[in-house]
Amino acid sequence: PADAASSGNLVQRAHRVIPGGVWGHNRYPAAYAPDAYPWFAERGEGARLLSTDGRWYNDFLCGYGAMINGYGRAEVDGPAVRRAGHGPTLTTATPSSVELAELLVDLVDGAAWATWGTSGSDATWTALLLARAHTGRKKVAVVAGAYHGSHSWCSWCNAPHGRHPEDEAAVVTLPWNDIAALDALFAAQGEQLAAVMITPFHHPIPGESVLPDPAWLQALGVHCASSGTLLVSDDVRAGFRLALQGSHTVMGFAPDIVCFSKALGNGWPIAAVVGSEALRPTADTMFLAGTFWNSGPAMAAAVANVELLRRDDGPALMRTASDQFTAGLIKLAEQHDVPLRVSGPPAIPTVTVEGDDTYAWMSRFAVHMAAEGTLIHPMHNWFLSTAHDRELIEESLAHADRAMARTQTEQVAAPVAAADGSDGG
Ligand code: PMP
Repeated sequence: PADAASSGNLVQRAHRVIPGGVWGHNRYPAAYAPDAYPWFAERGEGARLLSTDGRWYNDFLCGYGAMINGYGRAEVDGPAVRRAGHGPTLTTATPSSVELAELLVDLVDGAAWATWGTSGSDATWTALLLARAHTGRKKVAVVAGAYHGSHSWCSWCNAPHGRHPEDEAAVVTLPWNDIAALDALFAAQGEQLAAVMITPFHHPIPGESVLPDPAWLQALGVHCASSGTLLVSDDVRAGFRLALQGSHTVMGFAPDIVCFSKALGNGWPIAAVVGSEALRPTADTMFLAGTFWNSGPAMAAAVANVELLRRDDGPALMRTASDQFTAGLIKLAEQHDVPLRVSGPPAIPTVTVEGDDTYAWMSRFAVHMAAEGTLIHPMHNWFLSTAHDRELIEESLAHADRAMARTQTEQVAAPVAAADGSDGG
């Protein structure tokens, strides 16, 4: 039963000891609609999340991508919990690290070795250091508006507090899918670029997602090869949802380094960097460490999680579910006369409304969806998992039908986009 007092109390307590109450993506909807959007969750089961108010939500955010095989998936959590029972972090690595490296090298196209971190930011930073060590160059090129983590070299996106321009002095930006700009960048600075880091498709936040133009990808590959610049795929957000071989195999490019995190451990904190054979000697000489980088439970979870995705063809399951979901949403939008757009691969859909520049419509829609019992974010892309079955999607579409009707008819003041609502990640 709903017990608003419990979360109300938690929110008040949180505000006293956690600046803003919560950090990260939920800050925006929580601040915009403090009584309508769940602040704290008690647990998850499959694709459903139980808030501390005792309400169940169909969850289309999946821990912002971390959950891919369902919350509380016994086949994944079992090995992790067993490993944790032997000591969550030991002085040495555990056999799971070798098993996981073998699995990734076996699966991921172009991977000859793997190494670890506990977050996507760990992975992209490791990739950058490796590229610099290998090339002896300093600069890195990234796509304008792309998010590669919270570390100072790449965290400019609308989050200026505490940053200094010097932090990004070695970072140059290029526009997505623009061949002329790519040619100009390499003509001017190709010999200074240690790496170009791209996401497999462009998924800025806020904003529509854009798939790569094959001609641009091809030009990028040719430029990188001819100037000795490494190509890094930041597959932190998309990884394992589109293909187990790496999202680059779907989009059609051949990176030297691939970064994974989010979905790798089905919610257990783990990141991996995998690289080509040519980079092995450099990777051999590097010293990088993190207190929890060899922690066994997340690695045991990752092995079980990826094995499960392979056994069940997880990407195909997610494709079917997400096609059903996005087709349903588009049909509803037509019925309600909403110029709704779904961009990016359906398993990681970005949902926007034409002309909704302040995200006012989407913010109201998110509130009505929450009231119905489905959790979305007004600006961040959504995620599907193998646990999003036909029944849950049908129920969520019924929620969307009523939420769209309400969003269309009511007149509410536009919310002011919070500075922390669009940090790109
Ligand atoms: N790269 C991409 C593409 C991401 O989406 C994110 C996180 N949203 C990161 C890197 C950073 O990962 P983390 O938040 O785990 O540090």
